[in-house]
Amino acid sequence: MRPPSKPRALLLPAYAKINLGLEVLGARQDGYHELRTLFQTIELHDDVVVRPRARGLAVRCDHPDVPRDEGNLALRAALELQRYAGVGKGAEIAITKRIPVGGGLGGGSSDAAAVLMGLDHLWGVGLGPAGLQPLARRLGADVPFFLVGGTALGLARGDEVYPLRRQVRGHTLIVDLGRPVSTAAVFARVDRSLTPRENSHTIFRFVSSDLEGLRAFPILSNELERAALEEAPDLADRVGRIRGILNRGGAALALLSGSGSSFFGLFEDGRRAQGAQSALVAAGFIVLRARTVSLDQYRRAWSRSLRARRARGVGNQSRSRHHGDHRRQGHPGRGRKAEGLRIDRV
Ligand code: ATP
Repeated sequence: MRPPSKPRALLLPAYAKINLGLEVLGARQDGYHELRTLFQTIELHDDVVVRPRARGLAVRCDHPDVPRDEGNLALRAALELQRYAGVGKGAEIAITKRIPVGGGLGGGSSDAAAVLMGLDHLWGVGLGPAGLQPLARRLGADVPFFLVGGTALGLARGDEVYPLRRQVRGHTLIVDLGRPVSTAAVFARVDRSLTPRENSHTIFRFVSSDLEGLRAFPILSNELERAALEEAPDLADRVGRIRGILNRGGAALALLSGSGSSFFGLFEDGRRAQGAQSALVAAGFIVLRARTVSLDQYRRAWSRSLRARRARGVGNQSRSRHHGDHRRQGHPGRGRKAEGLRIDRV
């Protein structure tokens, strides 16, 4: 008889997001804001390893600013699933951070979604991405999106997520301004100047338009940007310079992501992105280059990870990669010809 197989560890990529557009419609009774946003996953990712153990939960992370207690969203995700499903088993979570912390790129939320997916599988709970949605909502407004991925519309608190048939494919540059901006403080500033609106049409126009490629993007904006720069006035000058370089370099879109502090440029082709990256580096900025990850590619990356027998190279990545060229870390659509900024139907 074969010996019982060892409990498997899973290595899951937790991708970053950018907001291709963000509108704030008003404050809600529950203290959150009514939003419309267009989420987009990009290939920049943390590595999350989940390993089952008999009992108890623990988290490790190689980044000094990330909590190792219940302040860690990934650990809270495991606790939430344990309680919800009445699971007695435990797990170890190891996170290798590459997504800048507090950068508006959703790193903590994506780690949490990866843990939900990984432990749902390893503990044999079997809720799947749809069944995990209510747990994800309780963890944070950005977590539900990471159970979906690709290009998606976020409504309500940003936690009602609709994957779009038209998926954006392009190249992004992410400029880490290296200074976290408090999301709560940015929203508090927005509140002081907010005129509640029933609706706003920019994102819906983008989603429903027949515009293709570059022409579709200039209507998009991030309505948190002004408040974020009021909150962190020392960033305004840098943001102006970065936007100038990205626009001159041919970016279709150049915006702050979420409430900051990362700034991104979206490009149709890799060569232009590379040119703008060189210009930004020459101006002294820290820049990551990453392709977009479509809904299809995101789903394939999940299913590959959940099928994989054993995590390799667990927690051994070097921190020097944090600000490197992200292309080295591979792309979920690897092997396919690099594509321009297209809107694909899925
Ligand atoms: P938010 O807009 O929700 O603040 P963000 O995308 O700007 O998110 P994150 O990198 O998710 O930024 O980190 C926000 C805060 O969450 C940080 O202060 C960090 O200490 C805390 N945090 C908790 N768990 C994690 C995690 N797994 N990874 C990164 N940060 C985490």
